[in-house]
Amino acid sequence: MTFASELAAELAAIREAGLLRELRRVDSPQGATILHDGRSLLNFSSNDYLGLANHPAVREAAIAALGRFGAGSGASRLICGSLAPHHELEEALCAFKRTEAALSFTSGYATALGVIGALVGKEDVIVLDKLVHASIVDAARLSGAKMRVFKHNDLNDLEEILSWAGTRRTEASAASRRSRTLVVTESVFSMDGDVAPLREIVALKEKHGAWLMVDEAHGTGLFGPNRRGVAEEQGIAGAIEVQMGTLGKAIGSAGGYVCGRRELVDLLVNRARSFIFSTAPPPSQAAGARAGIEIIAGPEGEQRRNAVWKLVDQFKADFRSRIPDECRSAILPLIIGGETEALSLAQRLREAGIFVPAIRYPTVARGAARLRVTVTASHSPEQVQMLVENLRRLAEEP
Ligand SMILES: *Cc1c(COP(=O)(O)O)cnc(C)c1O
Repeated sequence: MTFASELAAELAAIREAGLLRELRRVDSPQGATILHDGRSLLNFSSNDYLGLANHPAVREAAIAALGRFGAGSGASRLICGSLAPHHELEEALCAFKRTEAALSFTSGYATALGVIGALVGKEDVIVLDKLVHASIVDAARLSGAKMRVFKHNDLNDLEEILSWAGTRRTEASAASRRSRTLVVTESVFSMDGDVAPLREIVALKEKHGAWLMVDEAHGTGLFGPNRRGVAEEQGIAGAIEVQMGTLGKAIGSAGGYVCGRRELVDLLVNRARSFIFSTAPPPSQAAGARAGIEIIAGPEGEQRRNAVWKLVDQFKADFRSRIPDECRSAILPLIIGGETEALSLAQRLREAGIFVPAIRYPTVARGAARLRVTVTASHSPEQVQMLVENLRRLAEEP
């Protein structure tokens, strides 16, 4: 077989399984509506929860940085000097999350890869919730640490693994060998919209001498009295060794971050390979993220967050039986099951003018395909009403 025909055969198998993915070009900014194929579609697909991706203040901040610092950043921040917008972003992150230090990365994916690889290696243990994001799974594999997975949000299963790791650590320290244990979970799970019992996880990791890293990709901006995330809401942010997140969801720009102790950030600058060996993100990206954080931290952030929760409540009230009770976020999964059924429902919704992605394996387990509805501060109650009416109508059609 030639190169192309071998790949074509693989693609045909992916298509046959209902798992083919294709890019859909959009000719507008992200917002409550998007322009696709010359049509305006209602958009219930994005993680731009607070509607900041095209917010005037975020745009203006990005444009101003572009004017002052140019389009590119030249090299890795350790090589050609570290541009002011990245430092200003990190200062804003520390002030917002109330931590000693922060470090930004080109993406959330690169953050997970860099941080996990810097903290654990083949002598250590990494413990993951079954449903953590692919970036964390990839990072754990790449780190070479011994990987253990606990059942989703299952504290008994986690404790069993932590006792085993604790024994292993005691033996290692008797032999003067290093053995760390790092637990990694998400605060809000990206494809299920449920929340981790962080307070209980903190108690367990303290009891067993492990470290905890929490990915607040879908929590930052939405949870907690000051919208810092679920760690703030549950009152345990100070007990988490590594708080990470993305700048590309509620914050409205792109990139990733870590917040925590000064020593953590200093070590990452020395050890996080995705930080060291990669060109810094464009200054406009950092400036946009900083503007997003400032909005979130202020009164407009509070208004926007409240608007999201109102729409979530509206959708859940109208669609009660279909949304699991544990789901307590802006992510509203409608579990369909079959991959082709989910695809076909997404297509019929598109024909009706509504854009909702069908999420399939390997993003979720086989046979657990779903429509992943996300609501944002940019939507109106009428738009959510329209979504509900269309979902009802299509669910009743054969
Ligand atoms: C989106 C996401 C990431 C990756 O962040 P990017 O900035 O998109 O690379 C990491 N973790 C979780 C839980 C996510 O949902």
